[in-house]
Amino acid sequence: MSRDWQTHIRSSRRTFLQLCSATLAGASVDFQWLTQRNRIQGRSDRAIAQPLSPTPSCPDVSITPEQFEGPFYLCDSPERSSLLEAGISGRQMVLSGQVLSVNCIPIANALVDFWQADARGQYDEDGYRLRGHQFTDAEGRYRLETIVPGTYPGRTRHLHVKIQVPERPFFTTQLFFPANPLNEDDRFFQSELVMSMDASGPIENHDSTPQASFTFVVSV
Ligand code: FE
Repeated sequence: MSRDWQTHIRSSRRTFLQLCSATLAGASVDFQWLTQRNRIQGRSDRAIAQPLSPTPSCPDVSITPEQFEGPFYLCDSPERSSLLEAGISGRQMVLSGQVLSVNCIPIANALVDFWQADARGQYDEDGYRLRGHQFTDAEGRYRLETIVPGTYPGRTRHLHVKIQVPERPFFTTQLFFPANPLNEDDRFFQSELVMSMDASGPIENHDSTPQASFTFVVSV
């Protein structure tokens, strides 16, 4: 491990903790405010990430919408790419993808912090079950092993995620499952945040371990 990389990780963790504190202080942030911020912020502050090799083509991309954090985020999640552990039951799934800039440049070492409900729709509010963060690789890629989250009143299936590009504020959003009949009734549902799946139809109908993917495009 190079000294630069170690320095970056230490710096990212320090920033992670600092921003975590700020996030907790602002935990009651209003969803309407986030929507307004999305409109105002637009693409005004790009090109801060260290450029890596560009992808072969850059079709029209849209910045991934920000979303309501919800009341269940906890700071200091463990660093891990698999949320599977003893005591976790439910349908396993894999989510993978990339973090890209608006110019389709992969963002390396972005912190990607996931948290979610268990198969019964319950969050671990006392510990870190189904919570974990990881850093994107040199090609901006992440990979998460987890379970399909259950639903809870008013909410369709979803995963929560925070992304932090080095030296930038956290970006908070949610990911949704395609073809879930509860999507229409969830006021936070956004079609732009639906994951791609390796099979069609509701996830309950998939034969094997579902493979989901999502590319995050952040305003740098
Ligand atoms: Fe939630």
